Amino acid sequence: MGADGTGFGESDTAVPAPGSPPAGKPALLVSACLLGVDCNYRQGHSLRRSVADLAENFDLVPVCPEVAGGLPVPRPAAEISGDGRVLTADGRDVTDAYRVGARKAVELANERGVVGAVLKARSPSCGPHDVYDGTHSGTLVQGQGVTAAALGAVGYRVLDEDDVANGRLPDPDR
Ligand code: SF4
Repeated sequence: MGADGTGFGESDTAVPAPGSPPAGKPALLVSACLLGVDCNYRQGHSLRRSVADLAENFDLVPVCPEVAGGLPVPRPAAEISGDGRVLTADGRDVTDAYRVGARKAVELANERGVVGAVLKARSPSCGPHDVYDGTHSGTLVQGQGVTAAALGAVGYRVLDEDDVANGRLPDPDR
């Protein structure tokens, strides 16, 4: 993964043109932390073997939207508040960084022609099904992280790590 948090490594110069079809295995966007990259807010990862094993059938495209949006590693945890802003526990507004990261993730998905995404569950960026409620009290509510919502809004099917562990797999034909 490149330092910008996208799937562009420094040696990865053969990036297909936007909209080009995937060659070989279908491309799949994946939260980088699920592949063992130490990019989460604690400077750790959340490696999920069942997600990493998707490399057998997919060309995995790692992305960390929060790093892509310019946030450091480590960084303060943040949650989506009731008004949609993304705030750290001490009230710092990091919404713009989350939105930039989401935009970059969508751009990467388009450029690589991915068939969908498998993202980290319950993340304020990546979670596709539920997120913490903004009170920093560990309370989950139905909702989507900023990047998961952005990908879904342009038509990508977004699963999370638990879906994959439970046998709900990405569709290689979209
Ligand atoms: S959940 Fe998403 S934003 Fe958070 S560390 Fe993992 S890839 Fe980055």
